[in-house]
Amino acid sequence: MIILDAAVTVYQYYTARETNTILHGSRRLFLSFLGVDFLFILPGSTPNLHRREAKTMKWLVNILALLVLLWFWGGESKYMVYDTSQRMQSGKINVHLVPHSHDDVGWLKTVDQYYTGANNSIRGACVQNVLDSVISALLDDKNRKFIYVEMAFFQRWWNQQSELLKSKVKELVKTGQLEFINGGMCMHDEATPHYIDLIDQTTLGHMFIQGEFGQTPRVGWQIDPFGHSSVQAYLLGAEVGFDSLFFARMDYQDRAKRKIDKTLEVVWRGSKSLGSSSQIFTGIFPRHYDPPDGFTFEINDVSPPIQDDVLLFDYNVEERVNDFVAAAMAQANVTRTNHIMWAMGTDFRYQYAVSWFRQMDKFIHYVNLDGRVNALYSTPSIYTDAKHAANETWPLKTDDFFPYADKVNTYWTGYFTSRPAFKGYVRTMSGYHLAARQLEYFKGRKSSGPNTDALANALALAQHHDAVSGTQRQHVASDYAMRISMGYAQAEKLVASSLAFLTKKTSTSTAMFQQCPLLNITYCPPSEAVLSNGKSLVVVVYNPLGWKREEVVRIPVSSHELIVVDSNGREVESQLVPIFNASLNMRSYHVKAYLGETPSNAPQYWLGFTASLPPLGFSTYIIIISNAETSSTMSTVSTSDKISGETVVVGGGNLKLHFATNQGKLTRYTNDRSLVEGFMEHSYSYYSAYNGTDQASGAYIFRPNATFPIKSQGQGFTIVRGPLMDEVHQELNSWIYQVTRVYKEKEHAEVEFTIGPIPIDDGVGKEVTTQITTALKTNKTFYTDSNGRDFIKRVCDFRTDWELQVNEPVAGNYYPINLGAYVEDGSMELSVLVDRPVGGSSLADGQIELMLHRRLLYDDVKGVGEVLNETVCVLNDCKGLMIQGKYYIRMDPVGDGAKWRRTFGQELYSPVLVAFAQQEGNDWKNEHVSSLSMIDASYSLPNNTAIITLQELESGKLLLRLAHLYEVGEDKDYSIMASVELKKLFPDRRIRRVTEMNLSGNQERGEMERKRLAWKVKSQEEEEEIVRGGGVDSEKLVVELGPMEIRTFFLQLDDHIRMFGSV
Ligand SMILES: [Zn+2]
Repeated sequence: MIILDAAVTVYQYYTARETNTILHGSRRLFLSFLGVDFLFILPGSTPNLHRREAKTMKWLVNILALLVLLWFWGGESKYMVYDTSQRMQSGKINVHLVPHSHDDVGWLKTVDQYYTGANNSIRGACVQNVLDSVISALLDDKNRKFIYVEMAFFQRWWNQQSELLKSKVKELVKTGQLEFINGGMCMHDEATPHYIDLIDQTTLGHMFIQGEFGQTPRVGWQIDPFGHSSVQAYLLGAEVGFDSLFFARMDYQDRAKRKIDKTLEVVWRGSKSLGSSSQIFTGIFPRHYDPPDGFTFEINDVSPPIQDDVLLFDYNVEERVNDFVAAAMAQANVTRTNHIMWAMGTDFRYQYAVSWFRQMDKFIHYVNLDGRVNALYSTPSIYTDAKHAANETWPLKTDDFFPYADKVNTYWTGYFTSRPAFKGYVRTMSGYHLAARQLEYFKGRKSSGPNTDALANALALAQHHDAVSGTQRQHVASDYAMRISMGYAQAEKLVASSLAFLTKKTSTSTAMFQQCPLLNITYCPPSEAVLSNGKSLVVVVYNPLGWKREEVVRIPVSSHELIVVDSNGREVESQLVPIFNASLNMRSYHVKAYLGETPSNAPQYWLGFTASLPPLGFSTYIIIISNAETSSTMSTVSTSDKISGETVVVGGGNLKLHFATNQGKLTRYTNDRSLVEGFMEHSYSYYSAYNGTDQASGAYIFRPNATFPIKSQGQGFTIVRGPLMDEVHQELNSWIYQVTRVYKEKEHAEVEFTIGPIPIDDGVGKEVTTQITTALKTNKTFYTDSNGRDFIKRVCDFRTDWELQVNEPVAGNYYPINLGAYVEDGSMELSVLVDRPVGGSSLADGQIELMLHRRLLYDDVKGVGEVLNETVCVLNDCKGLMIQGKYYIRMDPVGDGAKWRRTFGQELYSPVLVAFAQQEGNDWKNEHVSSLSMIDASYSLPNNTAIITLQELESGKLLLRLAHLYEVGEDKDYSIMASVELKKLFPDRRIRRVTEMNLSGNQERGEMERKRLAWKVKSQEEEEEIVRGGGVDSEKLVVELGPMEIRTFFLQLDDHIRMFGSV
């Protein structure tokens, strides 16, 4: 026994010449044998041996050591087989080791640079290496597992593999060794994308996985985004069919409390309307998405590897096993049930995968030999099933996880606004994409030629949590924008050819359509072209929404001798508004910046006319040279200094805005129909950015130092009036220009702002905000939307889940806004809608504040390593970025605001698509279809329902998504069950089959519901009955939608002889 004990001991403590291996105090002898010093524990030996006894002992020990060495040289130092087959064990803490690599599809490098390993001087990251080496490591041991998340990378890799390797990888996926989780093209941001973009990018990835592997991802893995939205939980989680959602980032105060309460794992109900029918088990990591300290094994990592070869001087198995058990117990102490998960990896890890797997193999082997805890290769799905099997009752979470602070003064609320021009571009293209896909379907999808695929892919990438978030480096932002612009170019051609197809009536009547993507900088060559005799401009206006719509179309023109006629030749009222210098200056600089040349002639007027549009269809208007008797109405223009009286009232319809002439500002709002009236002020200010060393304001972080009102420098303003719209133009200072516009037929004010370049010559970064102030007593309460969908109640300096310590009274009350925000006081509501994601708050009662632009001079040390100081350059002349955008203001009696926020909000997301053609003579109507609705002529979708996807898939099936736009209880008329008659949506085709799918279209809805795990929830409140639409009868083909419900269908339609055009 002594020999055996000694052998084991020598084996364990081969040498301690250079280490401080723990030894047992007095029981040690130093041996000199074969020239090597051995540290050797002799069981039962006493501290003070007699000299002769010691000599005898030394001799005995030498013999013993020799035997020991022969033993382990003969057996243990050879090839070692590690037992990695461990599964879960009851009665022990199970440590689920989840190998993963967090691969940003663009951040410090572009997506392609990350994929190929190019530009490694910025960061040594090559996703190709990750996938190559992971696959090989998985093939080496069938017990190893890996999860992969970002399909934009995986697709790039997959396309390059041999058929042989593909079949091996398919096997790895089939056996669960390689599991796709999340499975969208990217791990999307949760604060700044629109829900339609989130659905689209997830669908794209999920359909790829379904097509290649026949798999449906089960787990949401949003480990890195900087705060988490309700829409992620219920829509992109539960409605996709995920059984769980995991993430890392949450408010540090919230996390601390949840660790004490063991509430890092919850059941999250993100939607008031859909409640428990779309809840999801959600796990938050106790720290971050990396392993506990000391367990990271990329080749340059400093964690001690397990050294279990007895020939190694630093043999450390027992020590490392102890470390492992200690880290596991620490996590188990803050976690319910005896299952804990370690996310084994972090950003761009596993470039040499075996470096990680080798260590995990050993840990699993030795930890399980030790037996105190149970370690296993796992995935989040296995972990979720274990949590579910534990039959625990979980705490309930409602609303969301915004804003996110990782420490005092470090609120990640700046990125809600960072890169506002890019954010605006993404949103504009998102709406365009929706319309273009409809037109692609109407024409018939072609595998060759222009299509919408490139735009879909570019928009998918742009939803990444370092893309639309604005937290990437400048060259990466340019890369995203370039991809979108290339995608747009394809889609623009597709749209033009589809409109040509739809308008074609005779064989000779193909029209060449042009569009104007630079209309925001007053640049539109086809509408600016001077019409010579006999020529006229054809304007086709397409409405992607399922309801009728009246929309004022505004285009720049070069002449005032014009009239607009409809397709029946009847004149339509129109209005000419002079183009002011502010717009012309913006135009000439930016056209040069975008196109490399300054346009020779500038247009002189905006021509506005009202287009009446059928649902899901188009109308045609023709602009012709007027004769002497009739012409478009020229606006009257006056300046405030010429006006007698203290107040100017603008607005030719129900809405009137009152401006104080002497102060040059808005003072009052009245609506003659709703009788709402009251004080209203509109102002701008900026926060000076904190630039101290502890935490600067930057791309992610909003850290204001002080706030400064921006006073109007010139008090005067210009008033434009006409039959369709009135405008008030104000140049607040040399870098803020504003037009407040009131359309006669609308009851909201449209504010068009131009901001920039933000001056920084004082060495201070600035974050520019606007405030709309009323007298409403709103009791610190306001509402902001979640990804353009559910509105969430916010209360200043308050959190639902914990007692907030207020350290940042401004930044800590900022929330992301995608659709809008509102406040109410029991009698009136003030609503503001936006044209792109922005950050905002209500810091004073009755007020809504939006942050519109930011220009900063310090990095916030959150990783991007670059200052958010965007510029626009013409040749080498660069100046700070100017942005132009819009927001919309309206007041309503309390309870009436939702109608505008929801129905008009959808019109904002889906603006009309305008295309131009020129014609000789006046025969358009004879040669072309000039007005068409693609749905039944007598039909219209109800105003609470939108078609959010109408897409012909490669399989020929049609993907149709319908969304209810209202929440439960939000509006007395529209928060009710809606129904859509499919037969009337597709009047000229027979619907052969309707299959209801999950949200991302990768499985049938029924199957998803059957598989869905049911969770027990600890909740005090009785839940109200949830309203969802019933099954779709195959005869009636009517789809019902409950409040906030989105339903996804695959339709198989009979081929039809199209009633329009000739195929
Ligand atoms: Zn990331």
